[in-house]
Amino acid sequence: MQLPPKSSPSSARFQSKASPIISISPSALTQIRDLSLASREVESGGILVGNNIGRDIHIISASGPGPNAQQSGSHFLRDTNYCREFLSRSYVESGADYVGEWHSHVIDLRQLSGGDLGTLAGIFIDPDYEFLTFAMVLVVVGAGEPELHVYSAERLEGTSRRRRIAITELYSGIFPDGGRRHRC
Ligand SMILES: [Zn+2]
Repeated sequence: MQLPPKSSPSSARFQSKASPIISISPSALTQIRDLSLASREVESGGILVGNNIGRDIHIISASGPGPNAQQSGSHFLRDTNYCREFLSRSYVESGADYVGEWHSHVIDLRQLSGGDLGTLAGIFIDPDYEFLTFAMVLVVVGAGEPELHVYSAERLEGTSRRRRIAITELYSGIFPDGGRRHRC
């Protein structure tokens, strides 16, 4: 059954100044939070699927890492085949496309690493994708509440032939209510 892409009013919306708006459905937030908390020793992650609306991004769901992901305390590489299948399934079910990536840090690094920035640059350079904007979600898992960081990456127009991207942190803090399973 084909369902139209929907933007739930209860989605959490993130924006910083003139950045693109990234909205994340409550179920995607819960999935990201639960998978991060289930993996306190090694990093977890996956792909984000949803829709681009102009330069804004609506995230409908998030995949897990997949059975063949490489996961350590300071490194994460998702299972490409697993994520590709997740994307095809999402596309058939809801028309959702590949719009971003998420992963967790289990060490005290509360920002994207050099490797993370390299991954983002690679995605923008890849001629298979023609991204104008892309979402990057980071979860920092420590002893207490997990910390959510939401970034947008945006291609900058310029005269230079080199492709430049702007990476903006739209949010850092606790998960909004949509990402909490239990409320007392
Ligand atoms: Zn990282």
